[in-house]
Amino acid sequence: MNIAVISSGTELLKGSTVNTNVAFLGKKLLEKGLVISRIFTVGDDPKELYSAIGTALETADTLIITGGLGPTRDDLTLEAVRCFFALELELIPELEEKVTQYWLRRHTGHVPKPVMRQAYCPRGGKWFDNPNGSASGIAFETEFDNKIRHIYLLPGPPREFEPMVETSLLPALCAAIPDEYTAGFLAAGEGEFQINQKMEELFNGQDIRLAYCAGAEGTRVFLTANDKNTLADAVAAARTCIGPHALPEGGLELVPHLAAVLEAKHYKIVTAESCTGGGIGAVLTDFAGISSVFKGGAIVYSNELKHAMLGVSEETLSAHGAVSGETAFEMALGACKNLQADCSIAVTGIAGPGGGTPEKPVGTVWIAARTPEKNREKEFHFYGDRRTVRERTRANALLLLLELLEER
Ligand code: ATP
Ligand code: MG
Repeated sequence: MNIAVISSGTELLKGSTVNTNVAFLGKKLLEKGLVISRIFTVGDDPKELYSAIGTALETADTLIITGGLGPTRDDLTLEAVRCFFALELELIPELEEKVTQYWLRRHTGHVPKPVMRQAYCPRGGKWFDNPNGSASGIAFETEFDNKIRHIYLLPGPPREFEPMVETSLLPALCAAIPDEYTAGFLAAGEGEFQINQKMEELFNGQDIRLAYCAGAEGTRVFLTANDKNTLADAVAAARTCIGPHALPEGGLELVPHLAAVLEAKHYKIVTAESCTGGGIGAVLTDFAGISSVFKGGAIVYSNELKHAMLGVSEETLSAHGAVSGETAFEMALGACKNLQADCSIAVTGIAGPGGGTPEKPVGTVWIAARTPEKNREKEFHFYGDRRTVRERTRANALLLLLELLEER
């Protein structure tokens, strides 16, 4: 399957809206073993959209267009698509009813013609229900340049787009490739290159397709096979080969896994953050199920608060400095004691761009983790700008705690 995506919306070109739809879609497709070949962004201009469709279809057999399905003057996607493929549109009574009701809940009087455009679908096509807005998604097949093409039109607003991808688009795409099964898991803390080498060696000559997605918290590995049993065996072999850092099948995110491990042990966790300024707490609380294990944390950016809130001794701070194993250790200890938890993670480092010294250059970070059984402090030297250093600190703090919890 060769997939192209076109995002339409002038706001995407101006930078006033970040194109989160393609990022979301890319991630969701990868979980199914599918990779987007090309992405185009065009303004609300039918000529640009028309030309992008032509370029996309030079290679793509599947085209996903997002945005421009609404009722306003700049919503021209369906019209551009109709012209390009010379489609005949038909009014769908069910959608007519939906659009009318949607209109009448907000306005009075007749439904204007541009609004009723949302009730039309190409003849022979299907529509995707949109419980979060008025424009339905549209799916149809058509022949172009002697090849069958699968075309999908989805609304632009992420709160409409994202649920439609999950409930309608992915099942439709998966139905179009019935003989493929994909599963993935996170190799926590593992670099893409090492994982790639291990996997290529393990599956050398076998009909297992592999895809990788590297991030600060490790490498996500996706395996695709033609039948379920082969896939299950391949996933088991891959996880054994990677060892304890491989999350269970389907475990693509570090935080839910960490939460499950903490929950199984009935442990509560707190954070003590200096250079991440609450970022670890933010990552943890992004996961809706975290409240059963996460109590909260202290943001202790200054030495004064490291001492006052967490009891880091003034001697330690003056003898070893705020960025030291000793301080990280005392932060983690103080967090467990003062915030009353079983486990803690503490981070203190130099995120840059200023503040580095020859002994402690920018990117030097000490991370401490603590459980009722053990504690560990580790020094890291992250390379990159402030954002990168903070991102890698967040991920490695979670990884260090997981390491302590999971080792025998
Ligand atoms: P509407 O009826 O709201 O016009 P629509 O399907 O026509 O629906 P658009 O006009 O493309 O959608 O976009 C509406 C909103 O969604 C805008 O606020 C826009 O910035 C946002 N949006 C559109 N495309 C994207 C995208 N690719 N990523 C993130 N936000 C987007
Ligand atoms: Mg619009």
